[in-house]
Amino acid sequence: MSPDQGAPTPAYIGVGSNLYGPEEQVERAIDALSRTPESELGARSSLYQSAPFGPVDQPDFVNAVVRLVTKLDAPTLLHQLQQIENSQGRIRGEHWGPRVIDLDLLVFGDMIVDLDDLKVPHPGIAERNFVLLPLQEIARDLVIPGLGRVVEIAVNRDEPRITLIR
Ligand code: AMP
Repeated sequence: MSPDQGAPTPAYIGVGSNLYGPEEQVERAIDALSRTPESELGARSSLYQSAPFGPVDQPDFVNAVVRLVTKLDAPTLLHQLQQIENSQGRIRGEHWGPRVIDLDLLVFGDMIVDLDDLKVPHPGIAERNFVLLPLQEIARDLVIPGLGRVVEIAVNRDEPRITLIR
């Protein structure tokens, strides 16, 4: 899967929670991400709070984005993310519904992946300020394959329901 076997790839991961102490859940997930095999935590954003996306009535979300520099390939990294979700008690429920922890593989180097269970860049990045604003904080010049530079996608977006927590 990896274009250059063994060369580290910068991967960007979105972290979100709106249940059971969301700030602590996000911090816990970032801590777990920093212990991912064959990977190093390159950067992490601040925590942001955002109103829920979609139709379900539920608490606000806490979101962050991290950069992981990894020697894993994309499917293996996705599997690691799912292990962390499971270890924090994620139960797969309602689409768009409340969640203890949600980890999304947003970007994996310059790769485009279109598998049944893995789409990279993650679909919907361009519509989601709770992804774009933390991503802009740690990678404003990142070029998202097929979309362009983060700072250019994030600019002029009229969607103010996101605030910096800390
Ligand atoms: P969610 O409810 O957002 O956690 O969706 C999880 C499902 O999305 C899993 O079955 C994954 O296989 C699938 N999926 C597809 N692309 C991605 C991605 N880039 N990151 C995380 N999950 C993904």
